[in-house]
Amino acid sequence: MQTQSAILAALSLIDEKLDELQEDLGDLPVQVKKLEKNVRERAALVDETRGLLDEVRGFRANSNQSVQSLNDKEKKLAEQQFAVRNNREFDAISNELGMSKEERTRLDEEMRTAGVKEENLTAILQQQEQNLEEAKQDLKDKEKELLEMTGEQMDEVKQLEGQRIELLGKLTEAISADYERIRTFHKDAAVSLRRNSCAGCFSAVPSQKAVEMRNQPDKAFTCEACGRLLFPEELKTPAESAA
Ligand SMILES: [Zn+2]
Repeated sequence: MQTQSAILAALSLIDEKLDELQEDLGDLPVQVKKLEKNVRERAALVDETRGLLDEVRGFRANSNQSVQSLNDKEKKLAEQQFAVRNNREFDAISNELGMSKEERTRLDEEMRTAGVKEENLTAILQQQEQNLEEAKQDLKDKEKELLEMTGEQMDEVKQLEGQRIELLGKLTEAISADYERIRTFHKDAAVSLRRNSCAGCFSAVPSQKAVEMRNQPDKAFTCEACGRLLFPEELKTPAESAA
C-alpha cells in the first residue's frame, strides 16, 4: 500500500514530465508558423521581381521593334531623298530623317538603361529565388520535426496521463482536490522537503513538521509560505518505480 506522500511524490514527477513535453511541443507549432510566414514573404518578393523583370523585358522588346521600324523608315527616306525634284522636298525629307534619328537615339539610350536594369533585376531575382528555396527547406525540416515529435510525444503523453489518473485515484479526495487546485498557480504543486526547506519556495520548514511528515505519511502537509504540498525528499524517485 503506497502512502499518500509516496503517491504525491510520484505524481509530481509525472506532472513535471508532462509539463516539459507540453513545453517542447508548445514552441514547435509557433516556429512552423513563423517559417511559413517567412516562405510567404520571400515568395512575394520573388513574384514582385519577376513582374518588374517582365516589364523591363517587354519594354526592351517593344523599343527594339520601334528602332527597327525607324531604321526601315530612314532607309526609305534616304532613297526618296535621291529622287527629289526640288530643294523644298529635299528639306522636308531631311527634316523627317532628323526627327527619326533623334527618336532612335532616345530609344537606344532608354534600351541601354533598361538593359542595365534587367541585369540587376536578374541578379536580385536569382538571390531571392535562392532565399526562397532555403526558407522552404527550413520549413520542411521543422514540419518534419514537429510531426516526428508529435508522434513520439503523443505516445509518452498518453502513457503519463494514464499513470496520472491512476495516481490521482489513489489519493484521498481532499488531497487530490488540493493538488489540482494548487497546480492552477504552482505547476509543481507537490515538492520535496529538502534539508528542512520547501523545494518550491526555499522557505524553511520547522524541523518539528519534518519529523511529523515522516511519522504520518498519509497526512497532507503544506508549506506555510507558498502553500505547496510537501513530501519527504527520499520519496523523490523515478516515477516508474513509485507508480
Ligand atoms: Zn514553499
